[in-house]
Amino acid sequence: MKKFLSIILAILMVVTTVPMAFAADVTPPTREVDGKIYYELDSADELYWFAEQVNGGNVDINAILTDDIVVNENLLSEKLILTEKDEVKTSPYGSETVKVCVAEVKTGESVREWIPMGTDLWVNMYSGHFNGNGKTISGLYVNEKYDDAGLVGNAYGCTIENLTLEDSYFYCEYNFAGAFVAFAENPYDEQVYLKNLVNKSIVCGRCAGGIVGCVQGTTEISGCINLETVYPFAISNGYDYGHKGGGIAGTILNDFSATDCVNLGNAEYAFVSGNDSFTNCYYLDTASKGVPFVTNNVLAVTAEEVASGLVCEKIGGHKTKIITEEPTCTENGFEKIECLICEYSVIQKEIPALGHVDEDGDKLCDDCHGEIKDVCPDCGRPIHDDSFAQSLICLIVMFINLVKSMFA
Ligand SMILES: [Zn+2]
Ligand SMILES: [Zn+2]
Ligand SMILES: [Zn+2]
Repeated sequence: MKKFLSIILAILMVVTTVPMAFAADVTPPTREVDGKIYYELDSADELYWFAEQVNGGNVDINAILTDDIVVNENLLSEKLILTEKDEVKTSPYGSETVKVCVAEVKTGESVREWIPMGTDLWVNMYSGHFNGNGKTISGLYVNEKYDDAGLVGNAYGCTIENLTLEDSYFYCEYNFAGAFVAFAENPYDEQVYLKNLVNKSIVCGRCAGGIVGCVQGTTEISGCINLETVYPFAISNGYDYGHKGGGIAGTILNDFSATDCVNLGNAEYAFVSGNDSFTNCYYLDTASKGVPFVTNNVLAVTAEEVASGLVCEKIGGHKTKIITEEPTCTENGFEKIECLICEYSVIQKEIPALGHVDEDGDKLCDDCHGEIKDVCPDCGRPIHDDSFAQSLICLIVMFINLVKSMFA
């Protein structure tokens, strides 16, 4: 009887723990910050889970990234065929030939498509706090005909900050495209904040913008940098002040302010706006123009001024990122801090070379297949004879190594 009971118990445990294990796998952990709950995201599955919640109606949930997230590895360089070409775009306001960048998934490659958070204008628009926490999301792929393309499709009253988006592709044929937000609205008088964002993704669409596509609601942008090409179309409904798109913001229709932003990517303008609501913004003179009118608040800078760090100084410091180069068998790796705008770079720590491995004893490294030369166990130099000279060198090198190790 006891045995029978324990079998039943075992079956029950299996039945109940399997679905729980699945749920625990996908539902990210949470933390509380200033009385608000944040989902801690550190994987593509968790990011998709979060977007599904938003698109399911939980529009005001919050997230904090706890690691870099890769959705599609090497999307732009290996998975897609990108073709820049001239296309005629027609609207009720006429037609125009524009440059677009179309993407096709390479034969044999599979790409996980991204469904932007906030898929429906008025119905579900993202209004939470998305804190990138200095991390990077890479490999988002949106290739849409009708739905807005971006990390967030439709937004109001949300804050997106401290995030880099790279190696991603956002395309929308008939609607807006912006790497972080395609369409910023303001139906309930709640402002959108976009702070400390860096875009290194291709954006193509109507009112396209490297940070935000179309701004219809009150929006504040600060410390945002665009580094990639923005391909804007002519648009259909008079939103455009006669222009198409911008490196930072595609089309600005309403209360808007931008501070400490820099456009370095190819685009028509840095911002397409009719209002001078800018403070301390810059654009690379060979990449775009500033705004469609003259202002002292959006200024041209040269490539030299960018590289030298002058622009970083003007906007309050470098936009840094930690780069890790893994060590190989023979060469040290390192962790360094690099600026995304200028040439500033500092090695933070060196990671020692791994050394060769030879488990099968064939004198070839199992990892790199390099030849493994026998070394003297005392001095670490290639094997040597017992002559007086060689033995003396051996002793000296041994002594130097000993002293070194004492002070290391
Ligand atoms: Zn810098
Ligand atoms: Zn090796
Ligand atoms: Zn030796």
